[in-house]
Amino acid sequence: MPKIVVKNPASLEVIETFPVPEISEIDLMINNSKKAFIKWKAFSLSQRQEILSKAADAIEARKDELAKLLTSEQGKPFHESNREIGAITSVFRLYAGMPIKPEIIQDNETTQIIVDQEPYGVCALILPWNYPVGLLGWKLAPCLLAGNTAIVKPSQFAPLAVIKCIEIISDFLPDNVVQPLPGGDQEGVYLTRHPGIARISFTGSQNTGKNILKSASENLPKITLEMSGNDAAIILPDCDLDKRFESIFWGCFFNIGQICVAIKRIYVHESIAPELIRRFKEKTEAMKIGNGLEPGVQMGPINNEKQLLKVYELVEDARNLGATIVAGGNKILGNGYFFQPTVLTDLDDSFRIVREEQFGPAIPILTYSDIDDAITRANNTVYGLGGSIWTEDIEIGKKLAKKLECGTVWVNAHMLVEHRAPFGGWKQSGMGRELGEAGLKEFLQTRTLYMVKS
Ligand code: NAD
Repeated sequence: MPKIVVKNPASLEVIETFPVPEISEIDLMINNSKKAFIKWKAFSLSQRQEILSKAADAIEARKDELAKLLTSEQGKPFHESNREIGAITSVFRLYAGMPIKPEIIQDNETTQIIVDQEPYGVCALILPWNYPVGLLGWKLAPCLLAGNTAIVKPSQFAPLAVIKCIEIISDFLPDNVVQPLPGGDQEGVYLTRHPGIARISFTGSQNTGKNILKSASENLPKITLEMSGNDAAIILPDCDLDKRFESIFWGCFFNIGQICVAIKRIYVHESIAPELIRRFKEKTEAMKIGNGLEPGVQMGPINNEKQLLKVYELVEDARNLGATIVAGGNKILGNGYFFQPTVLTDLDDSFRIVREEQFGPAIPILTYSDIDDAITRANNTVYGLGGSIWTEDIEIGKKLAKKLECGTVWVNAHMLVEHRAPFGGWKQSGMGRELGEAGLKEFLQTRTLYMVKS
């Protein structure tokens, strides 16, 4: 029987194995979810809000245990895991306070027109491995508030903390309102082709997003896709590096770059490029890398072997084409999927590491002399998730920010996510939105009621 084997990426030690569910078990889960939907949708909005709030408290009460589990399967340092558990509780609390109200378009003597919102039914929530618990919150909280039920397919590379959170949340819910499906890619395919699934909310790679669109074409469930990014940061000559460098650095290397909205390419004005590169070299070489549960560790391993090989391949490709490896550039030998934080220069936009999403600890730094040219180069991609402008002149920053073709743009920040604001990608980085009211609307379908009185 095929098994999911979950390893600690810092030691390669197996921490859990479980059998991949049979097709008949997935069918049963979906059937049970349909039955649970009838019960759950009958709960009042305030009952659902109260349950979300209690679930947030219960997760918070077990924050350290959950963060430890997350670090052991995902690799990120314990303080980053702690922050991620904080994100799920904060999103649950946000939606616990969000209203769902019908809109009265017209109400006169002859006619009343009301637009109201209904849940879809059984939703498939499909998660990646890089930020699994946080993204569970982004999807599950609005899904439940809207009155839907959920089958959650965590990544086979980091399913444990997600399953544990679902166990905790389920204590407050009727049976089968949320069920984890701890399978691999094929179970994801089966789920997205299934006629019992009314909505899919997916976060992961662009390639998988495209495959999901194909799988779903038969039954046409509604679909939200949050996919890969290749965010550019444009650093203007007046950028005060004393003030901004830490944010630029962690914009690239938080979760060792395994974040959809990490900075994945830097365009720096040629006048300050030498100073920026010097700072990157100094800081990457001073990083404490290791098992995220050890005190003081600032960077953990890459999550899995496939991803390690991808980062390695892109760095090698750049090296072979003549890029300068200013810092890092190699795997760290021993147990664990460790890779040195890497800084590359002397490359151009045709290099694969600039065009493709590396999703790991390797940052290409490119220079520009003309800002319009930098904006054109930043936009010259099929991706459109995020981007940033770094300048001490906020008005110029704002003007340039509006020229970037992506779903989120920051001035003097990157990766900052406010849960009340919508999040999602332009171009091939996304379809639909998560977070904020927009994220709730994704889980509600609109019905327009016309009532003719006379
Ligand atoms: P992935 O696409 O390989 O897998 C994501 C999930 O989809 C997993 O649960 C996987 O089992 C499942 N899956 C794989 N093939 C499937 C198929 N054909 N049908 C249905 N499900 C399938 O992505 P990953 O490697 O886990 O995550 C990394 C990627 O996620 C990066 O590209 C990153 O940019 C992206 N990401 C995007 C966002 C965002 O909000 N835009 C956030 C985090 C990560």
